[in-house]
Amino acid sequence: MSDILDFFIKQFEAQSCQPAGSADYCRPRPYRNAAVRFRPCSIGDYAERRELLAQAGLNPFLFPAHKIPGCDLLSDSGTTTMTMEQWSQLLLGDEAYGSNEGYYELRATFAAVFGPDWIDENPHRDNFFIFHQGRAAEHALATVFATELLPQIDAARAKAQVSRLDADLRNRVSKKINRPDRPFLIVPSNSHFDTTEGNFAAANIVPLNLPCREHREKDTHFGFRGNMDTAALTELLNKCRELVPLVYLTITNNTAGGQPVSLANIRLVRELCDRYDLPLFFDACRFAENSWFIKKREPGYAEQPIPAIVHEIFRYGDGFHISLKKDGLANIGGALVVRPDGRFARRFPELLERLTDHQIMVEGHPTYGGLAGRDLKAIAQGLRTVLDERYLGYRIEQVARFGAKLVEKGVPIIEPVGGSAVYIDLDEFFAGTDVRDDEFRGIAFTALLLLAGHRLCELGTYAFGQYRNGREIGPDPRVNNVRAAVPRLTYEDQDLCSCAAAIGVLKEYRELIPPVEVVYGRELSLRHFKSRFRFRERPGR
Ligand SMILES: *Cc1c(COP(=O)(O)O)cnc(C)c1O
Repeated sequence: MSDILDFFIKQFEAQSCQPAGSADYCRPRPYRNAAVRFRPCSIGDYAERRELLAQAGLNPFLFPAHKIPGCDLLSDSGTTTMTMEQWSQLLLGDEAYGSNEGYYELRATFAAVFGPDWIDENPHRDNFFIFHQGRAAEHALATVFATELLPQIDAARAKAQVSRLDADLRNRVSKKINRPDRPFLIVPSNSHFDTTEGNFAAANIVPLNLPCREHREKDTHFGFRGNMDTAALTELLNKCRELVPLVYLTITNNTAGGQPVSLANIRLVRELCDRYDLPLFFDACRFAENSWFIKKREPGYAEQPIPAIVHEIFRYGDGFHISLKKDGLANIGGALVVRPDGRFARRFPELLERLTDHQIMVEGHPTYGGLAGRDLKAIAQGLRTVLDERYLGYRIEQVARFGAKLVEKGVPIIEPVGGSAVYIDLDEFFAGTDVRDDEFRGIAFTALLLLAGHRLCELGTYAFGQYRNGREIGPDPRVNNVRAAVPRLTYEDQDLCSCAAAIGVLKEYRELIPPVEVVYGRELSLRHFKSRFRFRERPGR
C-alpha cells in the first residue's frame, strides 16, 4: 500500500514541476482570495473609454482607474492587495499622537529585517525617520543638503573640477541641472528613480546616472543589469570627490528596467566609498525582490535564506530610504534610516537634526511621520510577509511569465525580466518604421492600450526627455520604454494574458500607431504626470 502512495506522490511531483515560464505551468498560488472586488466596468465599454481617453488628454495618469476593466499596470506602488494578516493589524492600530505602539513595532521590524545595528537602542536618537512616501524622504534629504551643504561649495571651483572629467561624463553632469553657474553637488547612482532625480535636480544637485555597461549594451545574458558602472564612478570620484556628498544604489534599479544589483557590485561600490571616505545609501524600494535575484542568480547564494541576504546587502550601507508602497506591501508609507555609527551620521551629524526638523514641519511628529498608527502596523506586517520565499517566488515568476507571453507575441522586452515590471523596448518595437522621437509613439501606445482596457506607463523619450529652447533633449543615457508594472498579490495569470494579447495587437499593427502632439505641458518638469496630448493625423495617409 505504501508503495502505491509513493508512486502517486512521484507522479504528482513530476506533474507539478514544469518551469515557471512554461505554458503548462499549473502550480497553485501560495495564497487564496479572501475578498474580491467586482469591477464597475467591462471590457466591452469601448465607446465610453474612447470618450474618457480624449478627456484625459491621452494621459494614463488622468484616466479614471474604476473605468479600467483589464490590468492596471500603471505602477506597482501602493497597489498591493493587502493580506488578511495586514487587515487585522489595521484594526489594532494605535492612534496616539506621539510614540504610538506601531512606532515601536515598526522600529523592531526594521531591526529584524535590515539588521539590528540599523536601529539605535535609544528610540529618541535621530536616525529613523518615517515619511508618508518614499519621495518625501528623498525631498527631506535633498532639502537638507541644499540648505546645509551647498553654501559650503564654491561654484567656480566646482565647475573647474567638472571640467577635468572625460567628455562623456562631463556632458552628463552639465545637462542635469538648471543652474550650473551656482554652487552644485553631484550624487551618483546606478540610476536614480524619477522622483529622486527630480528632488535632487530641483535643489541644484546633479542626479548622475551611471548604469553598468551590460545595461547600456542590452546584454540579455547578464543577470544583474541594474549594477553600477564602477569605472565611471572611480573616474568621477578621482576628479570631483569634493562635490559628492554620498553615493547611491537603487535596488532593484527601477529606471534601468527594474533590474537587480548583485552583491558583488554592492561590495565593489562599498570599497570605492571606503577608499574615498564617502557614505553609501540605498534607495531600497525593492530590497526583497533584489535579494531573491541574488539567491537565484549570484554564485554562492542559492542556499542562503532571503533574510540573510537582506542582512548582507544592508551591512554595506550607511543609510537608506524606502518606499514602503513597494516591498513594504503597504498602500502608503516611506522611511529614511541612517546607520547610527555609519559614515553619514559621523560626517554630517548636524544633518540628522535638520532632518528631524524637516520631518516635524512637513510630516508630523517623528514617531508617526505622516502616517496613521494603523498604517505603521500594516507596514510592519507587510515587511514580515515580503521575506517569505513562497510569496517572492510566485511574485517574480508571475512577472516573468507575463514577459514570456509578450516575447511569444514578438514584443521586444528588456531581458531578463526584472522583478516588478516588464519593460517594452520602444526603439526595438518600432525598429524599421519611420518614427521620430518628437512624435511620442510611446504615448500613443499607452493611449491605445487604455482603449483596450489596460493601463501601462510610458517611461521613455517623453517621461525622461526635456523640452528646452524649442528643442527636445532625449534621456541620457537613452531609455525608451513602456512599463507594465505588476501590482503585488492582485492579478491572476489570466488577467495578464489578456493584457499581453492586447499588446500583441499593437505589435501586429505597429505601423498604424499614430503620432501624438503635446497639447499642454511639454516644457514642464516631471511632465509625463501632467501633460495632455492628442492623436495627430498621419501625413499622406
Ligand atoms: C517608488 C519609488 C520611489 C518613490 O517612492 P514613493 O513612495 O512613490 O514616493 C523612489 N525610488 C524608487 C526606486 C521607487 O521605485
